Amino acid sequence: MSLTFQPSENIARLKESATLAVAAKARALKAAGQAIIDLGAGEPDFDTPAFIREAAVQALAEGATRYTNTEGILPLREAIAADANRLQAQGTPITPAEVVVSNGSKQSLYNAVVCCFGPGDEVLIPTPAWTSYYEMVELARAVSVPVFGDAANSLKVTVAQLEAAATPRTKGLMLCSPSNPTGAVYSPDELSAILALAAARGWWVLADEIYLRIAYDGGARSALELATTRENLIVINGVAKAYAMTGWRIGWTIAPVAVSRAMTALQSHTTSNAAAVSQYAALAALARRDEADAAVNAMVASFRQRRDAVVRALSAFPSVRYVHPAGAFYVYINVEGFRGAADPGAAFAAAVLEEQQVAVVPGGAFLTPHWIRASYATSEHIAVEGVTRIARCLTGA
Ligand code: PMP
Ligand code: GLU
Repeated sequence: MSLTFQPSENIARLKESATLAVAAKARALKAAGQAIIDLGAGEPDFDTPAFIREAAVQALAEGATRYTNTEGILPLREAIAADANRLQAQGTPITPAEVVVSNGSKQSLYNAVVCCFGPGDEVLIPTPAWTSYYEMVELARAVSVPVFGDAANSLKVTVAQLEAAATPRTKGLMLCSPSNPTGAVYSPDELSAILALAAARGWWVLADEIYLRIAYDGGARSALELATTRENLIVINGVAKAYAMTGWRIGWTIAPVAVSRAMTALQSHTTSNAAAVSQYAALAALARRDEADAAVNAMVASFRQRRDAVVRALSAFPSVRYVHPAGAFYVYINVEGFRGAADPGAAFAAAVLEEQQVAVVPGGAFLTPHWIRASYATSEHIAVEGVTRIARCLTGA
């Protein structure tokens, strides 16, 4: 008998992650000996701080080699709750029962999406947004509803735009500040207004705060600081970006206990616990605060220097439009009209790779095909060279 693979209905419309695909392509070209400037990868270029790596080695020596509770080891969940309680100005303290540790914040997001949204539910996604949000919502067989922000407002959405996109089937919304892919940061007033709308309408808010600590110009605020209720709030975070721990795969949710229990049940049938040794590494990152703060502050200072250098380099090309990069490590550049292409972001990404050896992510991955994303999570020199080549390719200079 021969069996031809027909993708199941679950994944019939699934697209591969464009961000990961660009990263893989740049890696392959580099391995083949090409001098690629890789501004595709959304990954800190730093090593995990030494004290965290050492804590992991020690944990292994002490036997962190077995299954843990599905929701994660208690000391880590306590440290996550304590960390979150420092942000929360008021309200009942967050307890470890509200925390579920997963294999990266990607799994945390997926758990939250699948547990809160199902067939027919509409989920508002301020757009552009990270490519995986749309796919996760589709995997849950819910409907993603992109809500487009205005370029004049750094592509951020307003309460009025969210209200206009809502229907009786709206069940929740995704938030990401600082934003991947734009680097925009919602002000406290903007965030408070969106949280108030969601609370009034009874929508779930999935607040992805993975870039929270990587913010310049006065920082970014957490939904935990500004929400008047946590009943409809699921905050997603992890160690990947702030602590340069992408490969360790530790993320978490802070959510009402009933949601946390559901996500734990889901995870108990899919992946079980996140790797034990990684949980101990994350515990060191969160619990050894002085060492961690010193390491994070140094990395953020370095990202800020690169951000400033990138903005200076782009200012030499006044016709190039981009979103002011206020956080994360991305600059979102407008490529509208590039060589008359129907999908200018894709055409530009192909051209700049071919002609200038610079890898970027086409904005179509974030449902905004007139843009491209460049990551400056690389040395200042390379970031400046990369965006200069981008600007040259765009302006024909
Ligand atoms: N959210 C956003 C907005 C991201 O950019 C990323 C990075 N890919 C993630 C979540 C997932 O990060 P991780 O799974 O490594 O914690
Ligand atoms: N957050 C990164 C990016 O957007 C990592 C790749 C991914 O998981 O999508 O490029």
